[in-house]
Amino acid sequence: MSAAAEAVSASPGISRAVRDFITKKRKILIDGKWVDAVSGKTFEVYDPSTGETIAHCGRSDKEDIDRAVRAARKAFDSGPWSRMTPSQRGRIVWKIGDLILEHLDELAELEALDNGKPISVARVADVPLAADLFHYMAGWTTKLEGNTLNLSVGDNLAPGTAFHAYTRREPVGVVGQIIPWNFPLLMAAWKLGPALAAGCTVVLKPAEETPLTALRLGELMLEAGVPPGVVNIVTGFGEEAGAPMAAHPEIDKIAFTGSTEVGKLIVHAATGNLKKVTLELGGKSPNIILDDADLDIAIPGAAMAIFFNHGQCCCAGSRLFVHEKVYDKVVAGVAEEAKKIRLGPGLDPQTQMGPLVSTTQLERVTGYLESGRKQGAKALAGGKRHGDKGYFVEPTVLVDTAPNMKVIQEEIFGPVVAAIPFKKFDETLVAQANDSIYGLAAGLWTRDVGKAHALAARIRAGTVWMNCYNVFDASMPFGGYKQSGWGREMGQQVLNNYLENKSVCLAYPASL
Ligand code: NAP
Ligand code: MG
Repeated sequence: MSAAAEAVSASPGISRAVRDFITKKRKILIDGKWVDAVSGKTFEVYDPSTGETIAHCGRSDKEDIDRAVRAARKAFDSGPWSRMTPSQRGRIVWKIGDLILEHLDELAELEALDNGKPISVARVADVPLAADLFHYMAGWTTKLEGNTLNLSVGDNLAPGTAFHAYTRREPVGVVGQIIPWNFPLLMAAWKLGPALAAGCTVVLKPAEETPLTALRLGELMLEAGVPPGVVNIVTGFGEEAGAPMAAHPEIDKIAFTGSTEVGKLIVHAATGNLKKVTLELGGKSPNIILDDADLDIAIPGAAMAIFFNHGQCCCAGSRLFVHEKVYDKVVAGVAEEAKKIRLGPGLDPQTQMGPLVSTTQLERVTGYLESGRKQGAKALAGGKRHGDKGYFVEPTVLVDTAPNMKVIQEEIFGPVVAAIPFKKFDETLVAQANDSIYGLAAGLWTRDVGKAHALAARIRAGTVWMNCYNVFDASMPFGGYKQSGWGREMGQQVLNNYLENKSVCLAYPASL
C-alpha cells in the first residue's frame, strides 16, 4: 500500500471494516475464488474528495475475461445454478438483499469514500434500494411462467392431428454486464438481480473509478450461497476488460450502462456472435414547470432533479423549462437552493453534495461551464470549480440560454441546470422538450391533472415524473427512448432481457 493510501485508511472517519477492506489488495472473483489478474497487474482507486489513492485492484484483461467466461459457462451449462429449483434460487437472491441490509453502514461508507457521494444519501438511497432490488427479484424466480397455446393448424394442414403447444421461459445463458461509476452498488444490483432471478450466470465489470462496493458485494454473494462461477467480478479498464466482454463469442448477452458513445461501441463489438444487447445510456431530460404548479414543491423539486448525486444521473432534469409567468421566481428559487447546498467529502455526515467522481469528469463539467459562458449563458448560482483540492464543482443554475448552446444540447453529467422560459402549454413546448437525441426521463410540475396526462403521453421518454423527480423503485421499469438505450431495467420487464422464449409443440392423434 502507498503512503497516501495508508494515511487515508488511518483517518479517523473510517471504520475498521472499511479500513480492513481497502488496505488489502483487492483481487478479482473467478469461479468462486479471489485471484490475481493473470498479468499480475493492479490499478489505483482514488478518493475523489482529495485525489489520494485509497486502494489497489486487479487489472483484468482478455485472459481474465476468458477465465471468467469459462467459469460462468461451466456454471450455466453443467453447474448447479440452472438446475436449482426456482425456490432454491429465490432464497439465495433474497439472502443477498438481507446481507446488504446487514452491512448497510459499511457499504454506505465504502460507497461514499470511493464515489464521493454523501454517506447520508448512500445510507437511505443506494444501499437500501440495492437490497430492495434483490428482494423484489427473489420473488420473480418462482413466477417465470410460459403459456399454453391454442393452435388452429390441426384442422386444415394436418387433419386428424391435434397439438399440445406451450411456451417456456429459459435463461438466456452467460451474461456480460458493464456498469458505470455514478451508482456503483445500485447499478450492480440492477444488473445482477434480474440475471440471477432468471437463472443466468454473469461476468460483471464495475467502473474502474468505483470498483469497491461491487467487490464487497461479491463477498456477500458467496456468503449468501451463490455457487462458484455464477457471478464473476472482473475489475479493470473499459478497453482492456470491457471490450473483450462485448466481443466474446461465449457470452450470450451483454448489458451495458454508461455513455451513449461507448454503448455504440458495444453494439458493434457484439455483432460477432450476435449476442443480445441491452443499453442504458445518457440523457438530457426536460423538467417542465407550468404556471399553475405548486412552487413550494416545484422549486426544491427542480433543484433535487438536477443536484441529486451531483448531477451525475443519466436521468438528471438538466433542461428546466419554466412558464414565463413564474420564470423569475423559479430560477431565483432554484439558485437559492443551489447556494444552500453544503459541499464536502462524502464521508462527512454534514455533506449534502460531494465531489465529482474523477479529474476527467471535473474537466468535462468545467469545460461545459466555460463553453456556456462563451456562448452567452449567465450563472445565477455557481459556475465554477469549488476549492482546489478534490473534484468539487459548485451547484450551477444557468440562465440566458439559447437552443444552439452546447449546455442545452449535450449531456453535462454534473450539477448544472440550464433554464429555458416558455410562453404557452402547447405543441411548441412539447417539440422543444422532445428536441434531444435522448429520451430517458422527463419531469412535469402542475396542479392540472388533464394537462399532466396529456403531456405525459406526448413526451418521448422512458419515465415521466409528475410533481416528483428521481423516484426509483424495483417494480418500476426504467430505460430510454431514442439514443438513451435499448430495453428496460427493473420491474417485470427487465426479466425479458434475461429470458429466452421457447415454443414447444407436441402432435397427438385427435381421436382416441
Ligand atoms: P463510459 O466510458 O461509458 O463507462 C461506462 C462503463 O463502460 C465503464 O465500466 C467503462 O470502463 C466501460 N467501458 C469504457 N469503454 C469501453 C469499451 N470500449 N468497451 C467496453 N466497456 C467500456 O462512461 P465514462 O467515461 O465513465 O463517463 C463518460 C460519460 O458517460 C459521462 O460524462 C456521462 O455523460 C455518461 N455516463 C452515463 C451513465 C448512465 O448512467 N447512463 C453513467 C456514467 C456515465 P472504465 O470506465 O472502467 O474504463
Ligand atoms: Mg470511464
